Amino acid sequence: ETTKRTVLVSGSTSGIGEAIATAFARDGATVVVNGRDQERTEAAAGRIRSATGHDGLLPVAADLGTAEGARTVFDAVPEVDVLVNNLGIFGATPFMEITDEEWHHYFEVNVLSGVRLARHYIPGMVRRGWGRVIFISSESSLMIPTEMVHYGMTKTAQISVSRGLAQTVAGSGVTVNTVLPGPTLTPGVETFIADRVGADLPFAEAEARFIAEERPTSLLRRLIRPEEVAGLVHYVGSDASSATTGATLRVDGGLIPM
Ligand code: NAD
Repeated sequence: ETTKRTVLVSGSTSGIGEAIATAFARDGATVVVNGRDQERTEAAAGRIRSATGHDGLLPVAADLGTAEGARTVFDAVPEVDVLVNNLGIFGATPFMEITDEEWHHYFEVNVLSGVRLARHYIPGMVRRGWGRVIFISSESSLMIPTEMVHYGMTKTAQISVSRGLAQTVAGSGVTVNTVLPGPTLTPGVETFIADRVGADLPFAEAEARFIAEERPTSLLRRLIRPEEVAGLVHYVGSDASSATTGATLRVDGGLIPM
């Protein structure tokens, strides 16, 4: 089934997005690879092609933090069956120093990007009677980091948007869900951890210390790997998940206790 499908993964030139795109490419879907920059988008498509031996990759560079970017992607690929709203920006700023512009920017990039893509693609999915929309939220939606409240706000907002959209398309054959990863080993997180617990440590040690000190409820006792997030997203994007909609599914290593 998946072989005939088209899957769009926003922000798939790195980290979790690249792993998700790779998982869908592996079983033969046509995968739209997206990043802001043309060269990096093509490079990621090349890496996924070499990793999977699959040719059906469509690199489409666009800044999805803008309405024009969403339109560019839609014009390039007007039909997708699985939409994964993965892209996200994060950075630390103390609450009192987050400017109005920064609040708006985080909302626009992390939340509106997915809303706009959903508006473009949902009508076609409903018409065809099959579709999967998946929002990639974060542990930071439920455990808001003090120094990243603007980021946390966007990750909570995604859950509301996802649930509301699932209610909007109820009964159509289109499902809408949120996947909520815990701390995952991506290039950005690697740098973040080195900064926080000491760049001089071997990474495995820094990782263990970060989890012990900053994520003590983790039952996994290590960072999640991007492929482990992609495994759940791949399932939610399949036929097998047809009864799962309006849900928030966690791949957080047991971090959040309930
Ligand atoms: P990353 O920084 O490695 O990758 C982000 C991707 O988004 C890149 O491909 C980048 O090019 C793209 N991107 C950023 N802004 C864009 C824009 N305006 N237009 C188009 N593309 C854009 O990030 P990651 O760590 O893999 O995170 C991916 C998602 O997973 C995010 O939504 C993040 O909130 C979520 N998440 C990450 C972690 C983690 O620990 N890494 C944990 C929980 C949730």
